[in-house]
Amino acid sequence: MVFARKRFGQNFLHDAGVIAHIVEAIDPRADDALVEIGPGHGVLTRPLLDAVVTAAADSRASGSLDAVEIDRDLAAELRATLVPRGLVLHEGDALRFDFAALAATRGRKLRVVGNLPYNVSTPLLFHLLTTPSVLQDLHIMLQREVIERICAAPGSDAYGRLTVMLAPWVATEHLFDVGPGAFRPAPKVWSAVARLTVRTEPAFTLAPTYAAVVAAAFSQRRKTLRNALRSWLDADAISACGIDPGARPETLAPAEFGRLAAAVVNV
Ligand code: SAM
Repeated sequence: MVFARKRFGQNFLHDAGVIAHIVEAIDPRADDALVEIGPGHGVLTRPLLDAVVTAAADSRASGSLDAVEIDRDLAAELRATLVPRGLVLHEGDALRFDFAALAATRGRKLRVVGNLPYNVSTPLLFHLLTTPSVLQDLHIMLQREVIERICAAPGSDAYGRLTVMLAPWVATEHLFDVGPGAFRPAPKVWSAVARLTVRTEPAFTLAPTYAAVVAAAFSQRRKTLRNALRSWLDADAISACGIDPGARPETLAPAEFGRLAAAVVNV
């Protein structure tokens, strides 16, 4: 029996093969500024520390590994086990953590990693992407269904608001799936690992109305754009963006939402 706090989304990884696979995907380097969200008992933290902090000391590089953990008992455990080996631990809520300040301290962009607490995954991604310019990439494990939504192509079942909201800022890769047996306690669903490479500039011009237009478009699936955006743009204005007003929102590419959001600003 493993002691795990459900309210903190605790499913601890124990499969050595999966842990190695994740670390290999991250490909940590001695001068990386790594940040792990929710290190738990440190199964990913240990190999990451070896790859970054120990390697940095050997090669005079200046890599670092920071971690943000909300659970007081796990933080105490990590202070005893991994802080002496070079982990910089921040006890607190990753949703309130100032990633921009950390990047300024480290003097470089952050590489974020984590087997994320599933219950806060979407707000956490949005929090991170409030300051995309301080991030290099994210390697995240989440329920497979959420990873599919993040990485979905237009027109697919998983494509929706989450995909379109992240798309301006990240190029996504669904790397591999992980079965429930890799965790203790075992979750009910499959998980997956994705790489999100953060762009220096958004993929297209982002009007301040982007989030609101995307939310309105997806508020009722299977509505046409003409109906979903009725209070924002009429059919002619949608056509003027080169988009069919009779199309369904889930068939539009993110850049097309970008054009609609820009048109709203100019109405
Ligand atoms: N990384 C460990 C592993 O792979 O075994 C633990 C993963 S577990 C799914 C999620 C971890 O995130 C737990 O350690 C949990 O306490 C922590 N956590 C949950 N909510 C958090 C939050 N808002 N901020 C920081 N850590 C959080």
